[in-house]
Amino acid sequence: MGDARFANVLRLPAAKRVVVVLVDGLGKALLKQKAGHAPFLRGVMAGDTGGEHPRTLHAAFPSTTATSLASLGTGVVPGQHGMLGYDVLDPGQDKVVNLLGNWDPGVDPLRWQPFPTVFEQLAGHLPTATVSLPKFEHSPMTLAALRGSRFLGATSPQARIELAAEILAAHPELLLYLYWSELDKAGHGHGADSAQWEHQLEELDAAMGRLAATVPADTLILLTADHGMVDVPRSARIDYSQFPELVAGVRHTAGEPRMVHLYLEPDAGTPVRDALVAAWLDRFGTKAWVLTREQAVNAGWFGEVRTEAAGRIGDVLVVARESVAFYDLRRVRPQAIDVVGQHGSITKAEREVPLLRIPVSARPANARGAKAGQRG
Ligand SMILES: [Zn+2]
Repeated sequence: MGDARFANVLRLPAAKRVVVVLVDGLGKALLKQKAGHAPFLRGVMAGDTGGEHPRTLHAAFPSTTATSLASLGTGVVPGQHGMLGYDVLDPGQDKVVNLLGNWDPGVDPLRWQPFPTVFEQLAGHLPTATVSLPKFEHSPMTLAALRGSRFLGATSPQARIELAAEILAAHPELLLYLYWSELDKAGHGHGADSAQWEHQLEELDAAMGRLAATVPADTLILLTADHGMVDVPRSARIDYSQFPELVAGVRHTAGEPRMVHLYLEPDAGTPVRDALVAAWLDRFGTKAWVLTREQAVNAGWFGEVRTEAAGRIGDVLVVARESVAFYDLRRVRPQAIDVVGQHGSITKAEREVPLLRIPVSARPANARGAKAGQRG
């Protein structure tokens, strides 16, 4: 978009109007596998032979919405922005805090994630806007990860597409972030391999076709996602708190069922930690990777970790490798075990997301709806 302070690391073509469609939960593998339900996007992928941009991106780790959207919103790694899971330990309060929809009143989003967002960095240089669900306008998650743009809320996906087309038409220069929640929701409830998920993919596909047909012709439309998803059968959703050796010396549990943070009691020394790792490896070593915080940090899984964020990472991490999910049913509500589609781990299916460049349908100005067709 011509702002010299940012490097064009994705090798995207120049554009004055850009819309970034963030589809929650649309893994690259799922999109390919279910492309029969997405004829428009399938055509986009098949026809995409030009341009140097990568077609696949890797979501941040853990592969979960709070973490990934914070990296998208700030351009910094999780070890810096500190949004390190669906929920994590707040060492200052000695309690587990949720970083998505159920934010803790004791956590200030601007102190928890102090880095300026891309929107904040662009303020005064380039107009920016967010089109999302109205309930997210003032949410702490938005404040932490995506603060600083003009917010336009619409509940239905159709209304969000129309709003996006309208605001793009009204601005000769604009960076627009458009959030799409419906697919992830269907995946959690029914699995990605379900008629409900396929239906939502069809809805998304049709909406992207409408968006491409209604935005100004010089708009660059990019579609990407925050993470993928894997379906976990009921028999592989395990309450690990039933095994005393898997929680011995553990003060707090947090994270996702596919990326568990285990935090030790303050007086637990290295032998307690090593015994915990050994117990997990003994029982689930073929199904999950079990690492200490140091191992994961040294391997660069969170990027460079700032001191304040380090204490939010579990002393021991259990990272699902196979189709399995780990719950502490002493802590989470029992319905959590009904979730079918899951993510959080470091597998390809969860981390690989598409980067699609959707061509804008060529058409005469004002050919479609008067509002969307007007040029600013
Ligand atoms: Zn998500």
